[in-house]
Amino acid sequence: MTVSSGKSRSSSDQPPVVLAVGAHPDDVEINCAGTLKALQDIGCAIHVATMTLGDCGSKELPSDEISCMRRAETEEACRILGARYHYVGSRDFCIFNDDVHNRHTTALLREVAPQIVLTHSPGDYMLDHDNTSVLVRNACFYAPAPNYDCSRFGAAPALSAIPHLYYWDVMEGVDIFGKRMAPGFYVDVSGEMELKSRMLAAHRSQREWLRVQHGMDEYLDTMRNWAAACGREASAITGPPAGGKPGSADRTIAYAEAFRQHLGHAYPRDNILAVLLPSRVVGNADY
Ligand SMILES: [Zn+2]
Repeated sequence: MTVSSGKSRSSSDQPPVVLAVGAHPDDVEINCAGTLKALQDIGCAIHVATMTLGDCGSKELPSDEISCMRRAETEEACRILGARYHYVGSRDFCIFNDDVHNRHTTALLREVAPQIVLTHSPGDYMLDHDNTSVLVRNACFYAPAPNYDCSRFGAAPALSAIPHLYYWDVMEGVDIFGKRMAPGFYVDVSGEMELKSRMLAAHRSQREWLRVQHGMDEYLDTMRNWAAACGREASAITGPPAGGKPGSADRTIAYAEAFRQHLGHAYPRDNILAVLLPSRVVGNADY
């Protein structure tokens, strides 16, 4: 299992390179595709990675067949966005915070060399998501350490710095105890919903799977409904949007994606997304 190679490092005079890491195919599309599109529109190179190929995402097909199908679906979704796709190399329900996964994930970070990383939030509903969150958090910290050897999984050198790390919303916005996990801020993606929907629709195998497993018949509608709920939360926030003009707080936001920034020791604490997308970021409460 090796990390796909990519050569899109940016120098300081170029827009940041962005990497979104989901546990499974479709996680990125559901949670942050609108924000990725907005960042791409200002010149950012976009990379999308999944820890697995979604090999348990079917009741009928064997794991190798559904993996093949879901890889093709994910690559199609990435083509729609114009993103480069990376498969890290794990399997469904087998994403663990162990040495091999940490070195794989760190090799991905070194290969892509992003300045901005987006991934699952800690405390999400399933441990594949939770563990991906921890692995990506670790990889952001480990990737600049030259003595951390990832040569089994990639040849790229250590990063020069820890990237900005963001967590997207937990599933249905609630933690495992059913409490709303308050976002730090929202990104207005009203103008990106058509593309976000087309990307999610590329995951054709999953609509049927989710209908059987989760009782969700309307794959796209569920995504749209949640983005609309985040839009209502964003619209309700008082105070001007970050970078917005005074008096501009009363706009209605149809669709939004919600995020929190990792602000622990050594990680960048400035909200680069608010700087890059000043008219879209709403509710900079934590900064
Ligand atoms: Zn998932």
